[in-house]
Amino acid sequence: MRPGSESDGLRIVDLAKRYGAVVAVDGLDLSVPRGGLIGFLGPNGAGKTTTMRAVLGMVRPDRGSITWQGRPIDDDARRRTGYMPQERGLYARMKVREQVAYFGQLAGMRRRVAEARADAWIERLDLTERAGSMVQELSGGNQQRVQLAVSLVHDPELLVLDEPFAGLDPVAAETMRRIIAERAAAGVSVLFSSHQLDVVEDLCDEVVIIADGQLVASGLITDLRSASATRWLRVRWTQPVERWTPLEGVIESFDGRTAVVRLDRDADVAASIADALSAGPVSEVALEPPRLDEIFTELVGSGHLRSKRTEAGS
Ligand code: ATP
Repeated sequence: MRPGSESDGLRIVDLAKRYGAVVAVDGLDLSVPRGGLIGFLGPNGAGKTTTMRAVLGMVRPDRGSITWQGRPIDDDARRRTGYMPQERGLYARMKVREQVAYFGQLAGMRRRVAEARADAWIERLDLTERAGSMVQELSGGNQQRVQLAVSLVHDPELLVLDEPFAGLDPVAAETMRRIIAERAAAGVSVLFSSHQLDVVEDLCDEVVIIADGQLVASGLITDLRSASATRWLRVRWTQPVERWTPLEGVIESFDGRTAVVRLDRDADVAASIADALSAGPVSEVALEPPRLDEIFTELVGSGHLRSKRTEAGS
């Protein structure tokens, strides 16, 4: 198999899952290449957790295929997968070190090796002082660090992390960010969900955005940004300007020195800049595509989904 081929890594094709009348996942395709780091995004109830649980064999799909390295994912491949569930899946009364090593052994490691790897991750995650504490005695954020250690202890080839950043303090979030980036750089395929889109934009190049169990957009964040119909024009004048009404677009903010205007893609940018210059000498002009959070709102904001549903229903 050539590296980077379609059969390399995780591949989900036409996945569907229903819970009674609720359609949780509806014909979803998604790929995470070897060493790929994919941010999995979608509003609450979009179907992210259901998809991840299907990869782990915790949800039986109604339809579709999930393959790892070109073959249907099986228990053996799942033992080489690290999973961080959204709800913690730890034994509350087991001690931290014991627990991390225990999960390593469950994944097939010998006891000594599992203990050594547990110690390494416990140290990396700044849990050494709590290694002898029961999990239930730890704060929520520290329990999450234990959960991460559990998902990493057996050196998995595939990491599936369901909202790993939720509830972490800034220091722990930075550690999490570094570990995820490092694992992907080491060739691990990483799929992680998050509602913190600034973190996603900072951490990964590619995203998959779903809503109502269906794919809405996927690909490089830079491509999604440049494909957006919106541009932000930022203008800063050298001296305060009394008033400015842009030729085109909608003023988002204006404080006398700086203006931010939302332009449509087909707006005449040169004319808008010339117009800003006519109001006074300008020290800075920038034309920027929207950020990931703005694109997310554009694509899956409530208005968009409502119109999609109306179209579907009409
Ligand atoms: P969030 O961002 O809120 O975690 P999500 O994208 O992970 O959401 P899922 O948890 O996969 O979404 O839920 C998708 C849909 O399936 C929701 O409507 C949810 O209520 C429903 N659902 C999920 N699990 C079950 C279940 N075990 N029984 C019934 N309905 C379920």
